[in-house]
Order: sequence, then structure tokens, then C-alpha cells
Amino acid sequence: MSVINFAVVGYGGMGSYHVHTIMPKELIHVKGTFDISEERQAVSEEKGHFIYTTYEEVLNDPEVEAVLIATPNDSHKDLAVQALRAGKHVVCEKPVTMNTQELDEILAVSKETGKTFMAHQNRRWDPDFLIVRELYKNKQIGDFFQIESRVQGANGIPGDWRHLKEHGGGMLLDWGVHLLDQLLFMIDSPVKTVAADFSYVLGDEVDDGVATFLTFENGEKVLMEVGTTNFIKLPRWYIKGTKGTAVIEDWDLSGKMVVPTYAPDVVAPTPIQAGVGLTKTMAPPSEEATKVMDLPKGEAEYPEFYQNFYDVVRNQAEPVVKNEEVRRVLKLIETIFEAGEKQQVLPFE
Ligand code: NAD
Repeated sequence: MSVINFAVVGYGGMGSYHVHTIMPKELIHVKGTFDISEERQAVSEEKGHFIYTTYEEVLNDPEVEAVLIATPNDSHKDLAVQALRAGKHVVCEKPVTMNTQELDEILAVSKETGKTFMAHQNRRWDPDFLIVRELYKNKQIGDFFQIESRVQGANGIPGDWRHLKEHGGGMLLDWGVHLLDQLLFMIDSPVKTVAADFSYVLGDEVDDGVATFLTFENGEKVLMEVGTTNFIKLPRWYIKGTKGTAVIEDWDLSGKMVVPTYAPDVVAPTPIQAGVGLTKTMAPPSEEATKVMDLPKGEAEYPEFYQNFYDVVRNQAEPVVKNEEVRRVLKLIETIFEAGEKQQVLPFE
């Protein structure tokens, strides 16, 4: 079947990454790009793209079937509604909108026009996440009861608009949305409670970091943390299961699992000197008591994002990134903001 003709709106960091790295040429043809920055228009022109000079021009081009929205977060809603009304399908960058109200407006127009709207929650395909998801399912460390998911940098909030509230800046909306999307996609249970604490140490009007503690109906607990002031970082994932512990250090996928052997001849740990005291509780287990294992391989059993988008548009396939899931994440983000502001543990779902 024929390729889908796309116009790319916002040819900045992520827009150009879509064009040059992730849009498969056999499925997607980039018909042209539009950006409000003359500089970015010039860069795109240099790359040989057709340049739309206004958004209306994009919307009025009958050959454009779909639009990628890769602009600052506060502009997603209006751009998406206009595109859907002009009869275009839409791929929209994350966070899909500033709040659930905006998303509901988009979804109503998508329903009315029958045009596809999909948010680019690409980190469902991250190799580290796929390992964690595999472990969650294959239970090599038993049932998860504590999951710590972190991303930590030391470069502060990047760029320009990400510092500003009106553009949907801040780290919860930027990175938090990815980590929460992964967690809610994996954990098959309603979220029970939400606690949160935001960091403003850099003096911006938006959060430069966030930590949220979530409990789930099935008893699982999650600590999710995003930081931009961490000169020493903690592992990307640290997971405790009923039959072991797993760690993934970083995106290089270094890490391990340690599980008990349940060997019959295991010697009880002897007390060790710890600081100025003695401890048996915190003494390392004897060598026979535990086994170190390699992390499993993780593979997505679902198609790649653009393959899926193509199949949704052309063959009425089920979307991998469902709008109700995206809305649930956004609702959780709203509750995290509220829990942080009120410094209260709030119920959810
Ligand atoms: P950026 O600042 O690098 O690029 C945004 C571009 O949009 C700029 O070139 C700007 O001139 C242009 N622009 C602004 N308003 C516009 C409008 N109304 N019409 C057309 N162009 C407009 O920002 P970025 O890092 O590329 O982020 C863009 C979006 O992509 C954000 O929503 C961000 O959260 C998302 N993003 C997603 C990922 C991911 O992994 N999924 C990674 C980075 C960014």
C-alpha cells in the first residue's frame, strides 16, 4: 500500500530526529516541513525539504495526509485540532497536551472527523524498559514489589521553552511523562495513592526535578525520580522482587540480577563490623546463599511506532499507544502536581 505523506510541524531537535532517524522511508514520505523559526526553515531547506511558509499552507495541501506535531508542549492542542479538522491524521509528541482537558478536546475532534490521533510515547520501545517488562512477566526475580525508575542528569533544564510554565516546561512533563507511561503500561493494576515532591533548586519557575511515590491496588510500589542536578547518579532501574533483586545501571544495559539459591547447606551470615557497631542483618550473604545472573533479553511483542501508525491508518489496526492510556498518564501527572503542591498523599483511581 502507498506511503503516508507527512508534513512535519516544528523542525527542531525532535522534529528533525523523526525525519532523519525514525520515520521509515518505506512507510512515510516527508512532503515538507513548517517551523515558525526562519533559522529552522533554512536548515530544513538546506536538507532539501519543501518548506511551507504558514500552517494554513500545510493544512490546505491535499497531498498531506498526516501531520507530525513536534513543537513546544503548549502548542500541541491547537495545532492538533486544526490538523484533524483539516482532515489530517496526527502524530503528536509527548507530553501530548498540557492537561486532560486539552486532550479531551482533541479526542472529541478525532472522533468527530474519524482521523487518527496518536501520541509518540516512544519509550515503550526502550531496551532497558523491555528488559524490565520481560522480568515482570517471566518472574525470574518473583513478583515485583518495589520498583525504582530514575533518570538523572547534571545539566539542569535544557533549552529555552522548557524553563517556562506557559510552554509546559519542567521535568515532570518532559521526562516524567515517559517514565510514568512505561510504568502504567507495564503494571496491570490501578494506582491507589500518589505522593510527590518537586525540586526547584535551580530557581526556575518550573520543576528541575521530581520524585513521586505511587502505590498500586495489587500491592506494588513505585518510586519514580527525574533529576537534573545529579552529579552522581543512581541506577536507571532498581527492582525488588519476591525472589531476588535486579539492577539496570544505565542505557548501556549494564546490570544484573541476584537471587537466593535456597541451598540446604547455606551458612548463616556472621556479624560484621559496620561503622562503630556490629551487624548480622546487614552482613553480606554467604557465597552459596545467592547467585548472580545476567539480565534477560527484552523484546517488544508489539510493532514499532511508525509501523503501527501506518497499520492503524491503512489497515484499522489497534494502536499500541492508546489514547485512553495517554489520558491516564496525563491525569496521573495532574495528581502528582497536586500532591506536590499540597504536600499530601492523594488517592487515584
Ligand atoms: P525544540 O525547541 O528543539 O523544537 C521545537 C521547534 O518547534 C522549534 O524549531 C520552534 O521554532 C518550533 N515551533 C514552535 N512553535 C511552533 C509553531 N506554532 N508552529 C511551528 N513550529 C513551531 O524542541 P524539541 O526538543 O524538539 O521538542 C519538541 C517536542 O518534542 C516537545 O513536545 C517535546 O516534549 C518533544 N520531545 C519528545 C522527545 C521524545 O523522546 N519523544 C524528545 C525530545 C522532545
